[in-house]
Amino acid sequence: MKLNIHLAPLMLYWMNGHHGSHPVGGINYPRTLQEFDQWFATEQACLDCLQRLRWPDGFVCPKCKGRKAWQMSSGLIRCVECHNDVSVVAGTIFHGTRKPLKLWFQAAWYVTSQKLGGSTLGLKRVLGLNSHQTAWSWLHKMCRAMVRPER
Ligand SMILES: [Zn+2]
Repeated sequence: MKLNIHLAPLMLYWMNGHHGSHPVGGINYPRTLQEFDQWFATEQACLDCLQRLRWPDGFVCPKCKGRKAWQMSSGLIRCVECHNDVSVVAGTIFHGTRKPLKLWFQAAWYVTSQKLGGSTLGLKRVLGLNSHQTAWSWLHKMCRAMVRPER
């Protein structure tokens, strides 16, 4: 299993299904583990990151194309025009997960920073997951997302 991919293109891939323009280290994606920890210290920080990746030019309502929105409770955005609630993670591999986003981000970081893509055992150890099966299903899900993004 070879996954020589950087974190930022990976996440763009998850969110948009394409790589976008050349991401810049330190601006578009963290370069070091220390930088990573500072950037994604909270769930809200992870959500903000996904939101920026999803709507790089600002929010657009999928229903009415309205551009104004209220920030609701974490992860939910409400369109001012049609009152449609939009979930930041809907349609991505994060949708319906019971694990914190932070853990997913750490998993992505681990997988993308390992030369050979990392192993199930390594992922299990790094994230403190208690089940080998969970670690394996995460790896599998991320591999699939890199090949064919879920929409
Ligand atoms: Zn709307």
